[in-house]
Amino acid sequence: MKRIEIILKHVAPEFVVNEAVGMPYAMPPSSELTSKVIGIKKHLSCAEHIVMNWHIIGASRLELQEHMRHRIASPTVESTRYTLGKDFLRDYAINTEDLFVTPDLSNLSVEQAAIFSAHMAFITNRVITAVTQCKAKKIPNDYIKYLLPESLRTSFSWTINLRSFINFLQLRTDKNAHFEIRHVANEMRKVLKENSAAKYVDEILKEMGV
Ligand SMILES: Cc1cc2nc3c(=O)[nH]c(=O)nc-3n(C[C@H](O)[C@H](O)[C@H](O)COP(=O)(O)OP(=O)(O)OC[C@H]3O[C@@H](n4cnc5c(N)ncnc54)[C@H](O)[C@@H]3O)c2cc1C
Repeated sequence: MKRIEIILKHVAPEFVVNEAVGMPYAMPPSSELTSKVIGIKKHLSCAEHIVMNWHIIGASRLELQEHMRHRIASPTVESTRYTLGKDFLRDYAINTEDLFVTPDLSNLSVEQAAIFSAHMAFITNRVITAVTQCKAKKIPNDYIKYLLPESLRTSFSWTINLRSFINFLQLRTDKNAHFEIRHVANEMRKVLKENSAAKYVDEILKEMGV
């Protein structure tokens, strides 16, 4: 899944979470207490204090529609009404991969991959031509949107609390999930491992086996 960028823009500061989770107990707030209450005692309402904001840049609209099924989260999505056309006119001569997600074909036979690639190239080139011509005739974007395939790249900002995120990770890192959203979910989990501000979240997830 080339060129899909996953950015953790914000995670609730650890001390805020520790103070909230520590409220019922007659002991000072601490990361250990937070990890125990959420990870071991499974008081999952406490995980709702851990709010994260993510940016997912360049995923396909196919991935977007699966991602948006997770209702306990807040998305803001790039608008095709406002942005459609600019990318096409700018990037057409550069690379169609900037505009469309091309899946990894290594699980297909050589013949299957060749047929798929030929159709993908035909459709993406056809779409670029169609959008460019419609734009030239000043057809509004609200009509042109009907011409777009699910492989078109998009971007969105996504705010979610840890309780809902655990549900997302469990469903979308599973082998039955579609490979693009599985890739996005795995990358998000990886970012939590590597981001120093999210280290306490990584510890809780490890405690829970997620
Ligand atoms: C492998 C896979 C295949 C799928 N295939 C399809 C498909 O073919 N067609 C399809 O339509 N969808 C499909 N989905 C999407 C799936 O049905 C869910 O919509 C999606 O995974 C979001 O899960 P969720 O409802 O648990 O998450 P969220 O919407 O984030 O909800 C989180 C949790 O909040 C609670 N909750 C949320 N809303 C309600 C409510 N109204 N009432 C009660 N409790 C609520 C539930 O406990 C829920 O688990 C698929 C998902 C996966 C992982």
